[in-house]
Amino acid sequence: MPIPPAPMKLTCTACGRSDVFAPKSDAIFLNEFKLECKWCGHKPLVVSMCSRSSVWLARLARKLNR
Ligand SMILES: [Zn+2]
Repeated sequence: MPIPPAPMKLTCTACGRSDVFAPKSDAIFLNEFKLECKWCGHKPLVVSMCSRSSVWLARLARKLNR
């Protein structure tokens, strides 16, 4: 069963900007995912899960346990 990837927050430690990365599928995720700042080119970026996706995951887990 395919699980849609959860959006992630990419934070640049060099310029301090952050961006939310929401891949459309697992396959695209692997190709599109680059740990590089799109503003200053710094890498690697700090990756953290969005709080919203945690809620989504909790909801999904509840659904699966039912
Ligand atoms: Zn940057």
